[in-house]
Amino acid sequence: QAKKHHRGHVVRFDRAVVDGARNRLDILKRLREAFDQQELFLVFQPKLSLQSGRIVGLEALLRWRTKQGEFISPADFIPLAEQSGLIIRLGEWVLRNAIEQLIALRDKGYKDVHMAVNLSVAQLQHPDILHMLTRVMGEFDVPSHFIELEITESIAMGDIVGNIATLNRIKSMGFKLAMDDFGTGFSSLNYLQQMPIDCLKIDRAFVQTSNSKSGSEIVEMIIQLSKTLGLKVVAEGVEELEQAELLKSLQCDEVQGFYFARPMPQKDLYDWLDKHQ
Ligand code: C2E
Ligand code: MG
Ligand code: MG
Ligand code: MG
Repeated sequence: QAKKHHRGHVVRFDRAVVDGARNRLDILKRLREAFDQQELFLVFQPKLSLQSGRIVGLEALLRWRTKQGEFISPADFIPLAEQSGLIIRLGEWVLRNAIEQLIALRDKGYKDVHMAVNLSVAQLQHPDILHMLTRVMGEFDVPSHFIELEITESIAMGDIVGNIATLNRIKSMGFKLAMDDFGTGFSSLNYLQQMPIDCLKIDRAFVQTSNSKSGSEIVEMIIQLSKTLGLKVVAEGVEELEQAELLKSLQCDEVQGFYFARPMPQKDLYDWLDKHQ
């Protein structure tokens, strides 16, 4: 009886796994088609200086809206693109489009604004990464220090030495590097110190619990750590005035979040910039 029960569980479990895999394959197949059929586009979220209130940068974020009008979250499709290798082509496309947007903004007079682009570990570890960056930068007339590449702490797993070496090469090409979602991953302080990064982005989970005593102390600690390491510190996911005020009092450099601006397609971004002036 127990065995039968046990086997029943195994069967149900297997079916869930198979269904999940089918769904993933289905999304992946549709993602490849979406890429070819231009269902993918970028939105841009402003980053603001807490001292001046001015826009200092933008983060490019990938969006997928199917022909049927269905919206699929990057949290669902980016991992699939990473596992399948599609992220290599996709990531290059993102970088190119983000730089085109940056140049359009520079032409509008926003000469000090940087563009942040997310870079997956799979991209970082791809043998062609340095060539890809050189190739894309060669297509445009914009200094690489206006491009900030956001990586996550998952680079501290696996071939850490190799990853740090690649980051050093990227850094020496002039790009800025930011550690995204800081505090949620597994990087040790030892590795953090060895990473050639310019900026820490406090994960929004900490920002959103910063109304509690321990929450605000964690945020304060990360800001202090950034200062100790000589890094710029950015808080993401700022949704409330109180969070912004706390971050300002703690000398956080920059903020990003729905309270200030949502990620927006180009047209909305231009409207927002006009109003924000
Ligand atoms: P991320 O790089 O940490 O991006 C920040 C995420 O927080 C974005 O989610 C953004 O829309 C969301 N966000 C911004 N402000 C707020 C706020 O005030 N409250 C809340 N609740 N959320 C806020 P999104 O666009 O869904 O992207 C999710 C993740 O997908 C990104 O996290 C990034 O890891 C990945 N991603 C997105 N675009 C790309 C891309 O082009 N390449 C790669 N490799 N990854 C990407
Ligand atoms: Mg990011
Ligand atoms: Mg983040
Ligand atoms: Mg994230």
